[in-house]
Amino acid sequence: MMTLQTAGIHHITAFARDPQQNVDFYAGVLGLRLVKKTINFDAPEVYHLYFGDKAGNPGTIITFFPWPGSRRGRIGGGQVGVTTYVVPVGALDFWEERLSGFDISVTRSMRFSEQYLQFTDNEGLHLELVERESGANSEWSFGGIPADKAIKGFGGAVLFSVDAAATMDVLQRVLGFEKAGEDVGYVRFKAAGELGNIVDVPASNHPAGIGGAGTVHHIAWRAKDFEEHVAWQQKVFDSGFHPTQVIDRQYFNAIYFREHGGILFEIATDPPGFANDEAAEELGQRIMLPSWYEPSREQIEANLLPIEVRELQPKQR
Ligand code: ZN
Repeated sequence: MMTLQTAGIHHITAFARDPQQNVDFYAGVLGLRLVKKTINFDAPEVYHLYFGDKAGNPGTIITFFPWPGSRRGRIGGGQVGVTTYVVPVGALDFWEERLSGFDISVTRSMRFSEQYLQFTDNEGLHLELVERESGANSEWSFGGIPADKAIKGFGGAVLFSVDAAATMDVLQRVLGFEKAGEDVGYVRFKAAGELGNIVDVPASNHPAGIGGAGTVHHIAWRAKDFEEHVAWQQKVFDSGFHPTQVIDRQYFNAIYFREHGGILFEIATDPPGFANDEAAEELGQRIMLPSWYEPSREQIEANLLPIEVRELQPKQR
């Protein structure tokens, strides 16, 4: 068996309800770039929105299926419990003030000698910011957020497991994470990447959550190319899991499997990326459809609520 180690998180995908509120939160408040506006390939009446850094690099991408009127989920075991974003050292105070200016309540907490600014998005999804040196500063400046304060990408994630021992085992034995320590009830794992490379697992099991708006659907880990991706599929199978076939997701290839702690894992390729079907300068402006949906473009667009990326001003305090 080839020695394979993921560099860390490729993307995280969650459910939401209102697409404009989703854009307002992730682009307007957090200052991320809407790098792709497409549809759920299995349900073309629902958007699939991707937010990331300027290029939509792996390790920076959060994606949503905003489904108006869908039921609210409950965060719990078998899900990503908290999505962690990393900001430059010295930026947490800026973010506390900015989030407060949007009437978002924040709390601070410590683990592994790092301070976390924790809050929820408009749907109740749990997010946190942490200052770290790792990862290049953002080249995308939006909404009055200076580059030396802007989100760089994911720091990592906190995985809520119904079987924490099993989840920790798959992180180490299959994905190639290394155990880095234990603190305040969490076990920390690290991968080699600059972003999205630190995963914390609460040592105690969580009761199962319920999927729906305000919860994460799956977390994807990075494979560096298509050749390695096929080797990953084999390794997942040889490790006793049931990976799907390789699925072409237009911007990456994907396989999926559910680990024994209940979390849906995906392994996604770094290539070809988001400039696969539109120019890098124009990412996210037009609704992009896979070729088999192009003949139905007019009807598909008519069924989607219009959305726009807009600058939002926090209240001055
Ligand atoms: Zn995915």
